[in-house]
Amino acid sequence: MKRGGDVVMATWRGYLLVGLVVSAVCVALPLGVGRDVVYCLIGVSSVAAILAGARRNRPAHPGPWYFFAAATATWALADGLYGWYQHVALVAPFPSMADVFYLAAYPLVAAGLLLLGRARSADQGHTGLDETAVLTVGLGMLAWVFLIAPTWNASEEPLINRLVGVAYPLADVLLFGMLMALTNSAGARNTALLLVAGSVGAMLAADSVFASGAFVPVIATHRYLLDFGWLLSYVLWGTAALHPSMSQLSEPRPPHNLRLSTVRLAALGVAVAIGPAILGGELIAGRPLDAGPVIIAASATIVLALNRVHRMMRLLESQTDRLGRLANTDYVTGLTNRRHFVDRLEQLLGVAHPQVTGLLLVDVERFSEINDTLGHRIADAIVRAVGVRLGELTGEDALVARMSNNLFGVLDPSITTGEEAGRAAMAIRQALERPLELPELSVSVEVSVGALVLPEDGPQAGLALLRADVALSVARTRSGRTAGYGVEMECGDTLAPLLIGELRGAIASGDIVVYYQPQVEIRTGRVLGLEALVRWQHPRHGLLEPEVFVPAAEQAGLIGPLMEYVLDGALRQCARWRLEGLDLRVAVNLSVRNLLDPELVDKVRSALQRYGLQACSLELEITEGSAMVNPRRSIQVLGALTQLGVTLSIDDYGTGYSSLAYLQKLPVSRLKIDRSFVTAMMLDDASAAIVQSTIELARVLRFDVVAEGVEDDATLLRLRDMRCSTAQGFGLGHPVAAKLVPEMVRTIEQRLPEVLGTARLSRALPAG
Ligand code: C2E
Ligand code: CA
Ligand code: CA
Repeated sequence: MKRGGDVVMATWRGYLLVGLVVSAVCVALPLGVGRDVVYCLIGVSSVAAILAGARRNRPAHPGPWYFFAAATATWALADGLYGWYQHVALVAPFPSMADVFYLAAYPLVAAGLLLLGRARSADQGHTGLDETAVLTVGLGMLAWVFLIAPTWNASEEPLINRLVGVAYPLADVLLFGMLMALTNSAGARNTALLLVAGSVGAMLAADSVFASGAFVPVIATHRYLLDFGWLLSYVLWGTAALHPSMSQLSEPRPPHNLRLSTVRLAALGVAVAIGPAILGGELIAGRPLDAGPVIIAASATIVLALNRVHRMMRLLESQTDRLGRLANTDYVTGLTNRRHFVDRLEQLLGVAHPQVTGLLLVDVERFSEINDTLGHRIADAIVRAVGVRLGELTGEDALVARMSNNLFGVLDPSITTGEEAGRAAMAIRQALERPLELPELSVSVEVSVGALVLPEDGPQAGLALLRADVALSVARTRSGRTAGYGVEMECGDTLAPLLIGELRGAIASGDIVVYYQPQVEIRTGRVLGLEALVRWQHPRHGLLEPEVFVPAAEQAGLIGPLMEYVLDGALRQCARWRLEGLDLRVAVNLSVRNLLDPELVDKVRSALQRYGLQACSLELEITEGSAMVNPRRSIQVLGALTQLGVTLSIDDYGTGYSSLAYLQKLPVSRLKIDRSFVTAMMLDDASAAIVQSTIELARVLRFDVVAEGVEDDATLLRLRDMRCSTAQGFGLGHPVAAKLVPEMVRTIEQRLPEVLGTARLSRALPAG
C-alpha cells in the first residue's frame, strides 16, 4: 500500500527537485485557472511535506512544525481564494478575504520560529539579542523608508487599504527579526535551518518586490514572475521539514560563546550603515528627509552594535584570562606547572627582602615502573592523588606544582627554618606512604624529598632549584629519603657530577653565554669598557650565575675551555661592536688555573689575531690570590701578557692580604676595589676611608682605579669627589646580553652627564 506514505518516503532531495521543476513550470504557465490550481497544489504539497517530515524525523518538539504547517495551509487557502477572485469571480477587490488569510499566517510562522528558538537555546536567554535587534532595526528602516512610509502617506487611499498595505512589510520585518533570533540561537550549521532561512528569505524578497510594485511600474507588469519567490518558499519549507537535520534543530544546543563571525560582523556593519546611507541618499536625491525616525532608529542600531562589540571584548578578555590560566596549569593534575612555579620563585626572590619560604622538591620514585605496569591512566590518577595529598599537607598559602612527570615542587611560606623544612619533608614522605585510594585500587608511593629555606639557601631561582635538586639527590641516597640542603653537599660529590656532566656539553652547544657589564669613566660619564661575565643558560635550572658552576668547572679541569670560550666570545663581540662604531674594551676574568696554563699567552694572542684586534682592546682580570699561588710563574706570564699589550687588573682588591707595595711588583696597571667596600661606603666611614686611601695611594703608585659595586648616583658622585677614575656597578648598568649593549651604552651616556653635571657626550652610536 502506498497512499500518503509516498510523501513520507520521498527523500528531501526528491521533493526539492520536483518542487523546483513544478514551480518553474507553474510560473511559465499562462495566467488562468489551470495555473492557479498548480500553484495551490504546490502550497498543499508543502503542508503535506511539513507534516510528513515532522512525523518521520521525530523532533523532540514537533510544535513549531505544526505551526509552520498551519501557516502554510493558511497561505495555500489564501492562494486559492486569490485565484478564485482573479479568474473565477473575476473581481479583484483590495483588501479581500485573501489578504485576511495571508496576514493571518504571519503570526503562525512567527510563533513557530519563536518556539523553535526557545527549544534550541533553552537556557541562554539573551544570547545574540542585540545582534538580532541591530539587524532587524536596520531592515526595518529600509522597509520604513521604501515601503511603509510611502504606503501610509498615500493619503488618497482609504484607511483600510493603507492599513493592509503597511501590514505586509511590518509582518515581513517581524519575520525577519524572528529568523535572525533563531539563527543566533540555533547556529548556522544546520541544513534544515538554512532551508527555513532560505524559505523565509525567498518570501520576504518576493513580498518586498511585490509591495514596491505600487511605486515601480515595471515590477507591477511582471508580477507573475514573483510567484516563483513564494513557490520557492513553499518548496524550501517542505524540504526543511523532510531534511533529517530538522530534528537536531529542536534539541538544546550546547552553550556556545559569543564569537562574531566575519559574516556577522559585516552584517552588523551594514545594518549600522543603513541609517546614514538612507539620509545621505535622500539628501542627494533631494527628497524630503525621514530625519526623525531614521535618526532614532540609526542611533538605536549604533548603541546596540556598540553593546555587542563591548560584550565581545569582555569575552575576549575572559578568554585571554582562561588561556593564561591554562598556560600555567598542569593538565593532568590541575596544579601549577613548572613554568609558573619558576615564575613565582623568581617573583619571590626578585624583591629586596624576600619572604622566608620553604622550597621542597618531592620525587615519586619508580614512576616509570608504575607507568609501565599499571598504565598511563592509573599513573595519572596516582599523580593526581599525590597532588591532592600534598595540597592537604601543606599550609594554606603554599603553592604546590607539578614540575615534571614524577616531580612535585612546594613553596611553603609557613616553613621558615631548616628544622621546619626537614620536618615538613618527613611529614610528606610519611603521608605518601599511607595508601592513596584510587577508584580501582589502593597504592602507596615512595618519595624522596629535598628541602631548603629561601632566600638563605638559594638567592636566585635557578640556584635555588639547583640546590633543591642537590638536596633531593642526597635524599635519594639516605635511608630516611629526605634531606635539607647544606653547603657541604656542593663540596662533596653531589653538585659536581650533576653539573660537570653537563658543562662540557653546554660549552659545546652554546648554552654558555656571556653577559657584559659597563665600566664608566667617572670624569666624563663615558662607557670605556665592558666586563665579560659568564652565564649558563641551563635548560632545566634557568640562567645560572657563575658562582654556581665556575668553581665546579675549576675542579673538573674545564676552566681552560670555559675561559677560551668567554675570551673568544668577548673578542668576537668587541670586533663586531667596533664595526658598528662602538669602541669598547672588553675585560675577561681569569682564574688561578688559567694563569698556570703554559699556553695562556698563545691562546690570548691567537684569539686577538682571529678577530683582528689590537691587544689594548683586551683587559684580563686576576685576583690577588691567584697571582700568589705561584708568584714566580705568575710574574712571568703576566709579564708576557703585558708585552703583548694586554691591560691587566687586580680584581676584588681589598679582600686578599697583599699590600699595594707587593702588587706594584706585578706588571698590572689597574685595581678594582672590591664591591664590599664600595657598596658600604655611603653608610660606613671605615669603608669610605679604605676606598679613599686606596684611591690616593694608587694614584701615587700610578694604578688606574675601578670602583666595583656602584649601586647609586650618590656613590658615583662621592667617588668622583675622591677622584676615582672608573666605576662599575648596578647603579650604572647591570650585566646584559651582548645584543642589549649598544642600547645600554646609549642610555648611560645620555643620563650620566646630567648626573655628573658635565657636558653632553657625543658618540657616533649605531642606530637602534
Ligand atoms: P667579579 O669579577 O667580581 O664580577 C663582578 C660581579 O659583581 C658580577 O657578578 C656582577 O654581576 C656583580 N656586580 C656588578 N655590579 C654590582 C653591584 O652594583 N652590586 C652588586 N651587589 N653586585 C654587582 P657575577 O656576574 O655573578 O660574577 C660573579 C663572579 O664570577 C665574578 O666576580 C667573577 O669572579 C666570576 N666570573 C664571572 N665570569 C667569569 C669568567 O668568565 N671566568 C671566570 N674565571 N670567572 C668568572
Ligand atoms: Ca671581575
Ligand atoms: Ca670583582
